[in-house]
Amino acid sequence: MYDHSTPLDEYSWPSCASCGRELWTAEAGRFACRPCEDKTAARIAELPALFRQLDTTAALMRGARRPGAGGGSKTPPIPPRLEVLALVGPGGVAARLSAIEDSWRAMLGWTVAPWRGSPAQSVPLLAAFLANNLLWACGSYEEVGQDIDDLRRLHSECTALVLDERRPGRVQIGNCPTLRADNRVCWTPLTARADSHRIHCPACDSRWETLGEWRELRAGQERVLAEAAGVAA
Ligand SMILES: [Zn+2]
Ligand SMILES: [Zn+2]
Repeated sequence: MYDHSTPLDEYSWPSCASCGRELWTAEAGRFACRPCEDKTAARIAELPALFRQLDTTAALMRGARRPGAGGGSKTPPIPPRLEVLALVGPGGVAARLSAIEDSWRAMLGWTVAPWRGSPAQSVPLLAAFLANNLLWACGSYEEVGQDIDDLRRLHSECTALVLDERRPGRVQIGNCPTLRADNRVCWTPLTARADSHRIHCPACDSRWETLGEWRELRAGQERVLAEAAGVAA
């Protein structure tokens, strides 16, 4: 906190709970300054779109080994980007926004938040709640500085991953685990593009488009590899 003590008295001028700047006279009585409120409002508004971009197969694939990059393993596994999974999963963006909503509701004496469904369903609703009540929080909620800091961190974590994601290119993500009509595994090498949610096997025409299907693909690959290892042993 900025030390504004003078020889005349020890009174220190109130400062913003987030950035520490001394509050303007027009901001008297607030806990967070207007610029911090404005920046936070902009971050909250961007979070749903950032979440949608992260909640895609392509975002999870980014950074997988590129074809021909060498390396020892014959079958590169799909590398789940754990930091992306962590943000789009149940403990990620949705849970962090929900924790802020809960503390605001408790402070306002409101009922607890309603169940809002999966993270993908709830993030836009959580962001709307925070946007609608941000002015109150900056004005009346003593702990708002901590929430502003949390929102800034969350926004920058999402932004960094989404920007990383935008680089184009194909990545190799292991082989097609689909069982063909002749009861043999297709095992055609699969690639994913960073700018598309869709994985398509050029040999057997199998498609995986959603996060759930992507998880099934990975489970299928692991099953085939485990069976192959069992046969070889
Ligand atoms: Zn501030
Ligand atoms: Zn296939």
